[in-house]
Amino acid sequence: MLLSKLKLKPQIFEGRTDLRGRQSAGGRSINLTLAHRAFATFDALGITDEVRSICVKCRGRYFHGTDGSVRYHPYGPRDEDALYAVSRMGLLRKLLEIADRDPGLQFAFTHRAVSIDLSGSPRLSIDRPEGGDPYQLQVDRIIGADGQSSVARSVLLQDPSYDLHVRYAPVLYREVSLPLAKRGETPLPADGLHIWPRGEVILVAIPNLDGGHTGSLFLPIEGPHGFNAARDRAGLRRLFRELFPDIENRVPSLEFDFFHRPASVLCSVVINRVHRGGEVVLVGDAARSVVPYLGQGLNAGLEDALQLFRALERNDLAFGKAFAEYNEARVPDNYALQELAFAHYEELAVKGAQQDYIVRKQLERTVQELMPKEFESLYSMVSFSARPYAECARLAAKQERVLTRLLSRPGIVERMGTPGFKQEALEVLQTVQ
Ligand SMILES: Cc1cc2nc3c(=O)[nH]c(=O)nc-3n(C[C@H](O)[C@H](O)[C@H](O)COP(=O)(O)OP(=O)(O)OC[C@H]3O[C@@H](n4cnc5c(N)ncnc54)[C@H](O)[C@@H]3O)c2cc1C
Repeated sequence: MLLSKLKLKPQIFEGRTDLRGRQSAGGRSINLTLAHRAFATFDALGITDEVRSICVKCRGRYFHGTDGSVRYHPYGPRDEDALYAVSRMGLLRKLLEIADRDPGLQFAFTHRAVSIDLSGSPRLSIDRPEGGDPYQLQVDRIIGADGQSSVARSVLLQDPSYDLHVRYAPVLYREVSLPLAKRGETPLPADGLHIWPRGEVILVAIPNLDGGHTGSLFLPIEGPHGFNAARDRAGLRRLFRELFPDIENRVPSLEFDFFHRPASVLCSVVINRVHRGGEVVLVGDAARSVVPYLGQGLNAGLEDALQLFRALERNDLAFGKAFAEYNEARVPDNYALQELAFAHYEELAVKGAQQDYIVRKQLERTVQELMPKEFESLYSMVSFSARPYAECARLAAKQERVLTRLLSRPGIVERMGTPGFKQEALEVLQTVQ
């Protein structure tokens, strides 16, 4: 749609069948959250309200303890500090529906690109929906938006100056449905994400439009609470009883979800160059895929699209120059996001349950509320601003040092609400490098 705004006429080849009018097409996690970066792109297209109409607004996170306690952490003081939960299928359908209104776009579903030849002008080999040998198609250039196992990326990697950084998370994940509360049960609030941090194990539930939630359960492979310990019904129920007693009886389809839905590995990849001249450029997971703990993969992918659009606009459609500019801006951010996403796993899974982390977060919130211009938490910069990811990482490292310095001062927690606290925090902020 952004290319069409530039009066280009892209042809879109999609390996899957047309999703419009279909209930389910499988694929990855059932719902996800959109934040500032995604909406910046939707704003540029003028479709924010349409997308928001199928989302649930989430103003914070609910942390569930093993003792049944629940702590609510708002994402920030401003109304716009919110995530928007959406069904993946619903979002795809909505975007296709909107794209369908644009006569400049041509879709070919069930047309999977199997290989790319860059020896002359770019040539695609594409599988035919009816089977048989793939057909060949010569094109001007290729925008590889073909996900984590990108064919477009694999052709770049044939040149040894391209390098792929691959990292696996030590967990597998599965989806579990947490349906609406039954009579007499307290429903899970629908205005936020729910997190059960249990060391290496973590359950995250995202609200659905119907008031229920879809959970993603992340488990290590080995260990007392790993996949291998939950191989049978009894093992799985034991794991839920021990780790999630507050919802153990509220997951009626647990066995079905766990044993019949696929378990997926979490792999993150970043490539050191996201284009080749003006012929090929990568966006989305093809350029960088990250572990999902920060909820940024799609947000970053949509931001890629906007950055590429702006680079093309700035350079009057001089493709080589625009792709190179996009590459230069984006690659450092891609590496930074890969690291930030892994680090956030530690924060959600392990630290979320620790008392000193809770105090640190309380301090962070207080400082941010008192000095929103000088101090913004990492999560807030990543989720609620368009600040480049590499810059978010740099600023956050300094802010962590500020928090550590403040926490080393005796009695700081008691002084947090007092009139002199702002001055004290400001002094520390100005002295820490
Ligand atoms: C458990 C989990 C939770 C997540 N939660 C969030 C979240 O809350 N927020 C967030 O922002 N991100 C989240 N993500 C990340 C997000 O899902 C991805 O970053 C996003 O889907 C990437 O979009 P994409 O279009 O680049 O790739 P994909 O979604 O993989 O889409 C690629 C498309 O290309 C098609 N395709 C692939 N190969 C070919 C080919 N050879 N020929 C033709 N077509 C092809 C595929 O069929 C597919 O339609 C999550 C990921 C996981 C695994």
